[in-house]
Amino acid sequence: MKSKVLVLGSNFAGLTAARFIREEAKDAVNITVIDRKNYLNFIPNIPIEVFSNRNPANTMEFEFQHFLKSDGTEFILGNVEKIDVDNKKVFYTPNEREGADQEEISYDYLVIALGNKLAFDKIEGFADFGHTFSDTVYGNEVRRYLHEEYKGGPIAIGSDRFHQGQSPKLPKLPQAIAACEGPPVEVAFSMADWLEKNNKGDAKKITLFTPGDVIAEDAGKKILDQLLPMVSGMGYGYKTNTQGIKRLYKEGIEFLDGSSLEAEMKIIFPDWEPHDFLKGLPISDDQGFIITDFYMQNPDYPEVFACGDAAAVTVPKLGSTGHSEAVIVAKMIAKAVRDDYDKEIEPLHPQVLCFGDMGSNKGFYMHTDEWWGGDMSILKMGYTPYLLKIGFKTAYEMFGGRVPGWGMPAAEFIGDHGFV
Ligand SMILES: Cc1cc2nc3c(=O)[nH]c(=O)nc-3n(C[C@H](O)[C@H](O)[C@H](O)COP(=O)(O)OP(=O)(O)OC[C@H]3O[C@@H](n4cnc5c(N)ncnc54)[C@H](O)[C@@H]3O)c2cc1C
Repeated sequence: MKSKVLVLGSNFAGLTAARFIREEAKDAVNITVIDRKNYLNFIPNIPIEVFSNRNPANTMEFEFQHFLKSDGTEFILGNVEKIDVDNKKVFYTPNEREGADQEEISYDYLVIALGNKLAFDKIEGFADFGHTFSDTVYGNEVRRYLHEEYKGGPIAIGSDRFHQGQSPKLPKLPQAIAACEGPPVEVAFSMADWLEKNNKGDAKKITLFTPGDVIAEDAGKKILDQLLPMVSGMGYGYKTNTQGIKRLYKEGIEFLDGSSLEAEMKIIFPDWEPHDFLKGLPISDDQGFIITDFYMQNPDYPEVFACGDAAAVTVPKLGSTGHSEAVIVAKMIAKAVRDDYDKEIEPLHPQVLCFGDMGSNKGFYMHTDEWWGGDMSILKMGYTPYLLKIGFKTAYEMFGGRVPGWGMPAAEFIGDHGFV
């Protein structure tokens, strides 16, 4: 009998996992995917669309069901509400029509790729005075504000405090104070470019803030020693150790350290919080992130895997890390279900791999494992990183998440060794 694989979530990590599981495990498995929406949100490229005055809902959401259908994978449009790991069951409510009743589905292997909640609701004043780029609705609000209402005032860009989970069962990990600070740095660069192009100012209008000692700490010291002098040379304001955001108000932001910052636009990256129903499970850490080793497997429930932002080892919360994890999950499941599976499986190599937009068709490329104790540290800026960022989106959409084996290594090779 075929093993039943259930994948929860179908954005970056879930779709990639589902597609690679089919590729690796072949027809030894029946695969079912559940997500509450039937399109993929290509989040990392939303800012590019906003600054180009395009509604990201028109360009950054793509349909994925035909890829799953062609793989023979079943898709359920539903809201996952409960996981019972002792009885290997998941409870969900179909959400196509109002009034559906809760259903259950059993599994032999479970892949949790549900991402996190972005806790804007914990920031007083966000709905009235905040902006962000984390989905197409919010992105489009920024687009409208910038292009129709912006009065030329100061702009603050930064993160709220992240609460990383703890568990003695987790591998040793560095501790992050912010969930993902590549995006605020990226948005600061492209915002300065937008201000200049629209004759509304330059980097001097923008202040980057962070709850920690330093922004983007996970980029490692060598990269920060290049990046931070450049940022201050361009005239950006820089505020550290805010401890987190207390509230937003019309004229600015009040921080938990008691200080405040004047800002017409407040662009916020919030705390990344686990979904409520993942808290307190025997597979979760003390915050609700799913405990795994670097093979993305839970130590107590080896049939449970996690990848992407929902996994506790995904720090910082980066889509590129989720992608690597999803491929590992696929190989681990293939090894479990196929007697003839002889591929070697490498554990996750934690690192930051990131392509950021800087406006005017330029970008930065960052590839480092220094924060985890490694000695790789590459930062490049120019036209090539921008092309790689656009190219990865195109490849991801074309291959429905199953970017072929050469996709990521080629991007890394060009980024690490190529001319920019
Ligand atoms: C502005 C911004 C820019 C970024 N830029 C980059 C970048 O340049 N490079 C990079 O690597 N990363 C970047 N990231 C981070 C990246 O977007 C995330 O790491 C990535 O989206 C995580 O993928 P995921 O699949 O784990 O989670 P998600 O993308 O959050 O997907 C989770 C999926 O689960 C579904 N789901 C959630 N709860 C339920 C439920 N209860 N029932 C059913 N379905 C559910 C959701 O609908 C969704 O489809 C950026 C993030 C932001 C906010």
